[in-house]
Amino acid sequence: MKLFSIFGDPVSHSRSPLMHNSVFKHLDYDACYTRTHLKDGSKLRDTFLNLKLSGANITVPHKEEAFKACDEVRGFAKTVGVVNTIINENGKLIGYNTDADGFMYAIQEFKEIKNILVLGAGGTAKALVSRFVQDDIKVSVLNRSASRLESFKSLATCSTWDTFEVTKYDLVVNTTSAGLKDEELPAPLEIITKILQNTSFVADAIYGKLTPFLKLAQNKNITFKDGSDMLLGQGVLANELFTNHELKKEDIQKYMAKSFEL
Ligand code: NDP
Repeated sequence: MKLFSIFGDPVSHSRSPLMHNSVFKHLDYDACYTRTHLKDGSKLRDTFLNLKLSGANITVPHKEEAFKACDEVRGFAKTVGVVNTIINENGKLIGYNTDADGFMYAIQEFKEIKNILVLGAGGTAKALVSRFVQDDIKVSVLNRSASRLESFKSLATCSTWDTFEVTKYDLVVNTTSAGLKDEELPAPLEIITKILQNTSFVADAIYGKLTPFLKLAQNKNITFKDGSDMLLGQGVLANELFTNHELKKEDIQKYMAKSFEL
């Protein structure tokens, strides 16, 4: 039996075990998916190998560390330096990124997106911003600290809370972890209020709860979505890698989506 896991801190909220196990169970694939609470990202590689995993997903805050843990990184993950999926290929750790395409899948219903504001400058932001730029979308990034913005400067208009000036956006995406295990906003209320007055759509990478940011969008009658569809999108792509494309994508999608009803 193949064993898979999600690594993160926190990790108890993760729906990934439910999603992947639902696919394995319904499609008779001999595998099991568990969760591993990992505080120190530098221990990712050793922990992965000690657990004899066939593959893993990596969530907050270890995606950049996961890039370093791999022997080889393929596709879009190589462009962004952020890995959310690792496959054990004959003892070698191969890294991929399925978050960005998962998010593009999630926002398909928001038509005509040409201008996006990204809140946060962590691993998820890095993947999304690079993907948006590939599609010729104009991107701005707003982050609490200045240091993390450095790697975004060639791709987007960057600001911190002190230097931020609002313009018009088609979509604003929260990729910070504010609201994940607390009731914080991704930026001070005064800034968020201005932003919400100037956007058509709002999305949050956080799933399974209405974050304070989404609550404000809801109060202002802005069309919004949480991170569930992004989660589904990245999960389907990761499962295809885990099962070496042996299962049909439509079936993976069907049974993974079913797990959301539980
Ligand atoms: P990282 O740890 O790499 O980055 C976190 C970012 O959040 C940083 O920019 C940090 O700013 C900012 N931040 C953290 N706390 C606060 C706060 N209280 N106020 C304002 N900014 C804050 O995380 P990831 O990019 O890996 O993940 C970010 C979020 O996206 C998580 O909540 C994760 O669960 C979610 N996610 C969801 C997915 C899905 O499938 N739905 C997929 C991927 C991620 P600073 O630089 O100042 O520290």
